[in-house]
Amino acid sequence: MLRPRDEPMSPSSVPSAMISRLLHQSRSVEDPWNSPDVPLYDTTTFCFESTQHVLDVVEGRKSGALYTRYGHNPTLRALERSLALLEHAESALAFGSGMAALSALFMAYGQNGIVVLGETYGGTRELLLQQLSSIGFKVYMKHYPVKDDIYKFIQAGTLVFFESPSNPTLNVRNLRTTAEYCHRMGALVAIDSTFATPINQNPLDAGIDFVVHSATKYLGGHSDITAGCIMGREELLRPIDAWRKNLGSVLAPSVAHLLHRSLKTLELRVKAQNHSALFLAEQLETHPKVLAVHYPGLASSTGYAVAKEQMRGFGGMLSFDVRGGFEAARTVADHVRLFVLAPSLGGVESLLTQPCTTSHHGMTAEERHFMGVGDGMLRLSVGLESPEELWADLLAALDQVA
Ligand SMILES: *Cc1c(COP(=O)(O)O)cnc(C)c1O
Repeated sequence: MLRPRDEPMSPSSVPSAMISRLLHQSRSVEDPWNSPDVPLYDTTTFCFESTQHVLDVVEGRKSGALYTRYGHNPTLRALERSLALLEHAESALAFGSGMAALSALFMAYGQNGIVVLGETYGGTRELLLQQLSSIGFKVYMKHYPVKDDIYKFIQAGTLVFFESPSNPTLNVRNLRTTAEYCHRMGALVAIDSTFATPINQNPLDAGIDFVVHSATKYLGGHSDITAGCIMGREELLRPIDAWRKNLGSVLAPSVAHLLHRSLKTLELRVKAQNHSALFLAEQLETHPKVLAVHYPGLASSTGYAVAKEQMRGFGGMLSFDVRGGFEAARTVADHVRLFVLAPSLGGVESLLTQPCTTSHHGMTAEERHFMGVGDGMLRLSVGLESPEELWADLLAALDQVA
C-alpha cells in the first residue's frame, strides 16, 4: 500500500534546488517592467536604430535579435537557458516538435552512418528507415529478421542513438559505459531521454554528447503543446542550430512561453508520477492475470541495477503483458474508466495504449515479437490522479478478462 500521508516525505519527494534556480533565472533578463517571468515576444523581427547598429549585431559586436526563425527571440532564449539548466548542459535548442529536433540532429551528424541501439519510438524508426535511408543515410538498427551485432557498425564519425528507458519495453541502457564505448570508437552518442525527463536522469553527466526530448510529453506535461529540444555542448550544437535555421523548425515563441511555464512544475509532476507508477507496477506484478510488468523500478526488472545507479526516479511510464494476448488486453483497454485510451504520454492525465493497435500497428506479429512487443501488451502513462483510484480502475478492468 501507499505510504500514509502523515509519514515524513522521503528525500526524493522534496523539491530540489533545481527549480529555485530555474525560477530565479526566469526573472534575470533585462525587462523595464520587472515581470516575474520573461514576457512573450510574439514577433518575427526586431528593429534597429541605424545601419551601424545592424552591422554591430550581424558582426557580433553587440547582442541583439535579427529574426525569430534564427532562434533570435528573447522568449525562446529564456526557455533554452532553462532547458540547459535542467539537463546540466552548456546550451539548448528548442524545436517545433520532438521529430524536428531529431531530424536536425540526424542531418547535422548522421552523414557517416547512424547506429541505433535497441528499440525506438515509432516516428524515429520511420524517419530513419524510410525518409533518411531513401536519401542515402546509412542506418543500422535492430530490424526483423536481421540479428546483426549492431555494435560492430560503431566507427569513427558515426552517430550512435538510443532511448533509455525505451518505448514501449522500458529497457534501460548503461549511459556511462555506452558513452565510453562510443567515444573510444570515435563516435558521438545521442540519447532520446523523453521517458526519463531531466528530473530522473541527466545523461550529459554520464558522458553522453546530446540529449533529445520530445517536450510534447513530460516537459510540456499537459497534452496541449507540441515541442522538442536538444541539449549539449555549445560547440556541438552549432551545426544542429544551422539545420534548425534552414529547415525552419524553430519553436514558436507563443509555444515556448507555455513550455517555459510548464517547466516550473516539472519536478513536482514527475516526482508524483514516479511514485504512482512504481505503486501501480508493484500492484500489477502480483495480479494473476498479468504475465509480466516492464518497469525499471521493479527489483525483478533486468534493468533495475543499472536504473538504480543512473536514475533518481524510475519515471511515469510502464507496460505490462496481460495473460490471454490481444483479446485480453483489448478487454482491459475497453473497460478502463479513469485511464484514457489515447496515444502520447507524459501529461497530467493517465493514458493507456495497446501498442499493437497504435505505434506498432504497421508491423507483422513476428516483427513485433522480435521487438519484444506482444499483442497482449498495454502501455501506461501515469498521470496525477490518485494512485489508489488508478489501481482500482485497472483492477476493475482486469476483472472483465475471461
Ligand atoms: C513522442 C516522442 C517522440 C516524437 O516527439 P513529437 O514531439 O511527437 O515530435 C520522440 N521520441 C519519443 C520517445 C517520444 O515519446
